[in-house]
Amino acid sequence: MIRKIEHLGIAVTDLDEAIEIYKKIGLEFVGTEVVDEQKVATAFFKVGESYFELLAATDPSSTIAKFIEKNGGRMHHIALAVDDVEAEIARLQAEGFEMIDKVPRRGAHGNMIAFLHPRATRGTLLEVCSKAKD
Ligand code: ZN
Repeated sequence: MIRKIEHLGIAVTDLDEAIEIYKKIGLEFVGTEVVDEQKVATAFFKVGESYFELLAATDPSSTIAKFIEKNGGRMHHIALAVDDVEAEIARLQAEGFEMIDKVPRRGAHGNMIAFLHPRATRGTLLEVCSKAKD
């Protein structure tokens, strides 16, 4: 079951600068976290029940680095909170949706995540996520 928008993922070129901008805008800063597996440094801001997740590449081979090279710093993905990300992957695949992640991987903020292929939504990158069980 899809519960809410968990976060909006925004690719940024300079994480420190972006943190200052979003603080100034008035969002509640939660903290930063590096996800080595994804080669990204993240910063979270609370917006009601949801978050902004700022994403900066920590390595040129990061998918975020490639995204910024192509598109500049901008909106990257929308993450939907689900009860069980594994069950959601199975359900979406059964509906015929192409998944980038057929197995959940570890994201920031204690989430297990999986991305739908943007082809599946005709262009928008969607993530499904649920809290890691451990
Ligand atoms: Zn995300």
